[in-house]
Amino acid sequence: MNTLAVNGGKKVFEQPANLPQWPQIYPETADKIKDIYLGRRWGFYGPCEAEFNYKFAEYNNVKHSIMMANGTVTLEIAMRALGVKPGDEVIVPAHTWLATGQAVTYLNAVPVVVDIEPDTLCMDPAAFEAAITPKTVAVIPVHLFGSMADMDKIMEIARKHNLAVIEDCAHTHGSIWAGKYAGSIGDVGSFSFQQSKIMASGEGGGCTTNSDELADKLGRLSHIGYPFGAKQGQKVAPPEPGSCCHNYRVTEFQAAILLSQLEHLKEDNDLRAKNAAYLRKRIDAIPGLRVQSPGRRADLQAYYSYTVLVDPAYLKPGLTRHDVMAALQAEGVNANDMWGHVMYRQNLWSVAPDQFRIESCETAEKLVYNQTMHMALQYLMLSEKETGMVADAFEKVMNAYRA
Ligand SMILES: *Cc1c(COP(=O)(O)O)cnc(C)c1O
Repeated sequence: MNTLAVNGGKKVFEQPANLPQWPQIYPETADKIKDIYLGRRWGFYGPCEAEFNYKFAEYNNVKHSIMMANGTVTLEIAMRALGVKPGDEVIVPAHTWLATGQAVTYLNAVPVVVDIEPDTLCMDPAAFEAAITPKTVAVIPVHLFGSMADMDKIMEIARKHNLAVIEDCAHTHGSIWAGKYAGSIGDVGSFSFQQSKIMASGEGGGCTTNSDELADKLGRLSHIGYPFGAKQGQKVAPPEPGSCCHNYRVTEFQAAILLSQLEHLKEDNDLRAKNAAYLRKRIDAIPGLRVQSPGRRADLQAYYSYTVLVDPAYLKPGLTRHDVMAALQAEGVNANDMWGHVMYRQNLWSVAPDQFRIESCETAEKLVYNQTMHMALQYLMLSEKETGMVADAFEKVMNAYRA
C-alpha cells in the first residue's frame, strides 16, 4: 500500500481521475454558433460581442469591457491607451507568462523585472517600489495561477509615484479583492480567453476600465480607429493623428462561446475555491509542502492552476521536485513545472538582453527552479472523494521521499 507507484506499487488513482475536459462544452453554445454561422454575421462588432462586453463589465462591476484578439495585444493596447512611449520603463514581475514583459517591447518601452513574494508568488510591492526610476510610467501586476497581487500596496505605491496600473488578469477571471473584482482596481484590466484559460474561446482577450476616456481609446486603438461601440462603416469622428490604431477585433463565434461560459463562471469558481481550500488544509499539513497563498484580501480567489511548493531541504539527499512530480504522476496526479522558467528565460522570450532590465529576481529564481509544481484547474473540479485522493497522493509521495 505504501510502495510508490513509481516503484511498482499500487497507484492512488487506479482509474484515471475524472477530470473535466477543457474547455468545457455546453450544448446551447453549439446551437448559438450554428445560428451565427447561418446568419452570416460573423464579425465587425456584432451583437454577441456587444452583449459580451456589456455582461462581462457588469459581472466584474466595472464600467467598460472591450474585447480584443488575445491577452497579449490587450496589454499592448492598454499601455498605448495609457500613453506609454518609447524608452519609458514598465515594471513587471519575474514570474509570469512571457507576454507580460514582451508586450512592453511592442511599444519600444523597457520591461523592468522585479521579484515576487514567496507566499503569493505575485509581484513583491517593495521590489516594485525599489525599481522605480524617473523613467518609470507604469506597472503590470499579474494575478498569478491561484493568487492575487497585493493591490492595496501596489495601488498606493503607484498613486504616490503617479504610475499607471495595468492588472494582468489572464489567470483570474472573477477573483474578488476586498470587494472589488480583478480588473476593476487598476486603470485597466487585461484578460485572456485563450484555449487554456478559465474562460476560453480558443483565442480572445479583453480590457476592462472604469474610465470613459480610456474605454474610448482602448476601443479606437483595437478597432482601426472607430470609437468604442461603433460598427465598421459607421460615420465617426476620426482618431487622433499618430495614435497608431490596430485591427485587433474578435469574431461573433468567440463572443458567443464566452457568453455561455460567463453564465457558469461563478458556480465553477466557487467549486474550485471550495476544493482548493480543502486541498490546502491537507497539503499544508504535510511537512515539506506548502500551497501558494491565495490573494491576501481575496474574498473569492479564482484558480487557473493549483500550485504546490516543495522545500528541497525536506527531501532525501539526491531527490528534487522533479522526482516528486514523477512520483505524483505515477500515482495518477499530473503535476508539472508549467513554463519551467522565470519570464526572461522562457524558451520563446525574444527580448534582447539590452532591451530589458532585471532589477530583482532572487525569490522567483529560487522557487521556480527548485520548488513549484502545478496542477491544471480541472483538478479543482473533482468529486470530494477524488479530491481527497489527490491529497493522499501528495502524502504518500512525501512520506516516502522525506528525509
Ligand atoms: C496567457 C497569458 C497572457 C497572454 O494571453 P494570450 O491570450 O495567450 O495572448 C498574458 N499574461 C499571462 C499571465 C498569461 O498567462
